[in-house]
Amino acid sequence: MPEGPSLYILREKVAHFKGKKILEADGYAKGIDMSRIEGQKVTDIRSWGKQLLFIFKGFTVRVHMGLFGSYMIDDRKKVNASLHLRFANGEVNFYVSTVKIVEGDVHESYDWAVDIMSDEWNAKKVYSILREKPKMLACDALMDQHIFSGSGNIIKNEVLWRVKLHPEAVMAKIPDAKLREMIRETHKYAFDFLRWKKDGVLSRNWQAYEQKVCPRCNVAFKVKDTGKSKRRTYYCTKCQVKY
Ligand SMILES: [Zn+2]
Repeated sequence: MPEGPSLYILREKVAHFKGKKILEADGYAKGIDMSRIEGQKVTDIRSWGKQLLFIFKGFTVRVHMGLFGSYMIDDRKKVNASLHLRFANGEVNFYVSTVKIVEGDVHESYDWAVDIMSDEWNAKKVYSILREKPKMLACDALMDQHIFSGSGNIIKNEVLWRVKLHPEAVMAKIPDAKLREMIRETHKYAFDFLRWKKDGVLSRNWQAYEQKVCPRCNVAFKVKDTGKSKRRTYYCTKCQVKY
């Protein structure tokens, strides 16, 4: 599943459709009235976490690519698209994607303060949300799209390793400074991810995710599907502290 930085890259690639009118909209996405979109002007294009948002006056078209989704710009696959949007200056096609219309003002539906890629990202707000969840595990917090929108399994693994935090550390027991460090490092790693992804060197820079040995301690990583999210976690039992 593409994580926040990949959506950020996609948003940049479709930025030239902002302010443009949709000449043709179709696709097999269920529950979308395509005639409502046709002829409308896209007032803005944003990403929120793992979703791409085409914003119109009074409503938003939300695209979520999920596990197997993909997109093509000014090109098409042989299979039918979930959503095809054609503009005077090009087209974009989404495949195996969930598409929904969100009614009303986009700012009332989405909280940019928890979007790890947003200029409006707010570490203090994230901190206060986490302090309200004393039983939550660190690994689940970093997968929760209402707390760290855009974070995914790669970001989770790398951040926990960077800040020497055990994936099963419990919120209530994590010291203030360590929790603030985890929040800060999530935002920071997301932009390292973005830079490395653009340069094609993302996986080369993984320190924990899909790695065998902890680069700090030179001992084997433990591999376990941790927390309620049950996603694969690589962690070092020597340097990552279980508070
Ligand atoms: Zn270690």
